[in-house]
Amino acid sequence: MKVHLRQIPQGETLHLEGEEDSAPLGLEEAGAEPVGPLEYSLDVGLSDGGLFATGRLHQRVRMTCVSCLEAFEQDLDSDPFATQIELGGGESVDLTPEVREDIHLLLPAHPRCDQGGEKTCPAHYPAAARPSLNDSGDTARPAIWAALDQLKTPPSDGSP
Ligand SMILES: [Zn+2]
Repeated sequence: MKVHLRQIPQGETLHLEGEEDSAPLGLEEAGAEPVGPLEYSLDVGLSDGGLFATGRLHQRVRMTCVSCLEAFEQDLDSDPFATQIELGGGESVDLTPEVREDIHLLLPAHPRCDQGGEKTCPAHYPAAARPSLNDSGDTARPAIWAALDQLKTPPSDGSP
């Protein structure tokens, strides 16, 4: 996402709006698959030897729920997005590193399919809670009942 400095009017801002290929964002490395392009709407201007950009970014991604392991889609919205870049003397400034960083900050470390509140995760209760119940309850109980059964049954009745 390059901004040509000559296009920015002196003392004013330049409005940029459109879509960009989301491949440079490197979302796959973070476990998210981009769904559609990166959409942006930005106002860029120059001040004190730097370039500033404000506006909003939108990217839809597909992630895997850490709880139920189902794939789900989520919108990442950076609104408001704001950044400032020092000018390096070139004719253009590339906003991609700033945009990339901002989008990555929106990615959840532990994505859950129910985090948007639109659906309920089928694995709402962690599976780890069940084995401990079974250990103290279901597996221990048959041993106790077997011992009680032996106590109730007189040895003489069982002998042939
Ligand atoms: Zn889930």
